[in-house]
Amino acid sequence: MNQTKYIFVTGGVTSSLGKGIIAASLAKLLQARGYRATIQKFDPYINVDPGTLNPYEHGECYVTDDGAETDLDLGHYERFLNVPTSQANNVTTGRVYLSVIEKERRGEFLGKTVQVVPHITNEIKERMQLLGKSGDFDIVITEIGGTVGDIESLPYIESVRQLLWELGEENAICIHLTLVPYLAAAGELKTKPTQHSVKTLMESGIKADILVCRTEHELSDELRQKLALFCNVKKEAVIQSIDASTIYDVPNLMLEEGLDTVTLKKLGLPEKNTPDLKNWNEFLQKHKNPKHEINIGLVGKYVELQDSYKSILEAFIHAGATNETKVNVISVHSEYLDAKTAEKQLKGLDGILVAPGFGNRGIEGKIDTVRYARENKIPFLGICLGMQMAVIEFARNVLGYADANSSEMNENTEHPVINLMEEQKNIENKGGTMRLGAWKCSIKEGTLAHKIYGSSEISERHRHRYEYNGKYLNELQNAGLIASGINPDTNLVEIVEIKDHPFFVGVQYHPEYKSTVANPHPLFVSFVNAIVKNKTNRLKSQTV
Ligand code: GLN
Repeated sequence: MNQTKYIFVTGGVTSSLGKGIIAASLAKLLQARGYRATIQKFDPYINVDPGTLNPYEHGECYVTDDGAETDLDLGHYERFLNVPTSQANNVTTGRVYLSVIEKERRGEFLGKTVQVVPHITNEIKERMQLLGKSGDFDIVITEIGGTVGDIESLPYIESVRQLLWELGEENAICIHLTLVPYLAAAGELKTKPTQHSVKTLMESGIKADILVCRTEHELSDELRQKLALFCNVKKEAVIQSIDASTIYDVPNLMLEEGLDTVTLKKLGLPEKNTPDLKNWNEFLQKHKNPKHEINIGLVGKYVELQDSYKSILEAFIHAGATNETKVNVISVHSEYLDAKTAEKQLKGLDGILVAPGFGNRGIEGKIDTVRYARENKIPFLGICLGMQMAVIEFARNVLGYADANSSEMNENTEHPVINLMEEQKNIENKGGTMRLGAWKCSIKEGTLAHKIYGSSEISERHRHRYEYNGKYLNELQNAGLIASGINPDTNLVEIVEIKDHPFFVGVQYHPEYKSTVANPHPLFVSFVNAIVKNKTNRLKSQTV
């Protein structure tokens, strides 16, 4: 077996430079040249995983097939590469320490004093090489969260230094991402912050092999020369990463800059074929030249932060391109919406998505939204909590159970149409204990869900504690809320839908996690398609 090659991506100057997108774009190019590449992220915070983090703090929590609650960058990796990630692709300081402390408690360190160096760094190094040693990958890209110089990042930076030394320069390199700011008053791009951040990296014993410079303006030849000289890298290894209108342009921009070729050269790997980006560019072509335009309301309570619903927004981009449609997602705060204002706030929307979420805040607004979409025949998709709200709305307004609710919101309701899953009842710890990851679902023939998936057996990713209460199945079905998807082992209802509606579907799982550029999710594709058709029909009937 050939030696796996390692690429470490560090960041300097400031956070939010888009390390995840650069890592994903480089991996895409390497994959398109015929290499098996994967990306992993090491995060410096103490939470064992981001599952316990408020989406306001850290953006969406992404979920993998194997049920890991992970950083949202793993979503980008999957969307770009179309290869599933797993728990091994995301490690936090909390997870590293937890595992070292558990080993200490088991007596595995045989009386030694347990220290950051070597015990924590050894644990990090082991985990950094886990996917590489699986034999499944030629190249492993490791993104180090945070910014060099941060106290929290130090053990990671030291581990990278050791690995670069141990693996040798042909087998491991460091790509450093920095910012080259533009000072409008001086009319100049400034290299000093980059010089300082490369110096900080050097103080930890790491020499950057490649510099990726985020910039608002083109880097001149002269400036690249200057950066090369002062940062100790070859000029061809100074890569410009100019602001792009869409993240999906970045692989092409990196190709133009030669990020992939300079990387391969440093790692002593052949360039193989020129990257095959045919499908990728077809997607971009459609994304940039839409024939239709629709407005979808995203009703949720974390709408202030775009990253909270990252995968949903990206899934709409994929589905929009498939349908040659520009999808404008309009955020609607569920907390400031009620039966009286629903009409005013939701009028003019061509489709409505009720978002996932936890807790009481804003749920009545979500229920009023479902009612508005159901009664006014506006295409509707409810995801996780959104599906649960659709069941509650139906029980309240069609079955007439005015107090119907989820026991998450009201433990004493007489009609808990959504209740806590049996296996959740004795769980006390909050972290990593939900129903997580991929579960099978059987779809009834003749339903809308069956038409959408074109299959009777699917697998989707979950993250929830509450479920559709099977006691109400007959009543709800007889009144018209069809349970079209059911888990074959537990009988849990995973999909509900309504007939005689342009599109009304609620899903207990998260389809957005599985939508990629290469495989836009069928549910999003059909939802967008139904909205376009519905809108066209509506406009036609208005002009007749
Ligand atoms: N709060 C709900 C539950 O735990 C829904 C979760 C979600 O939307 N991800 O079941």
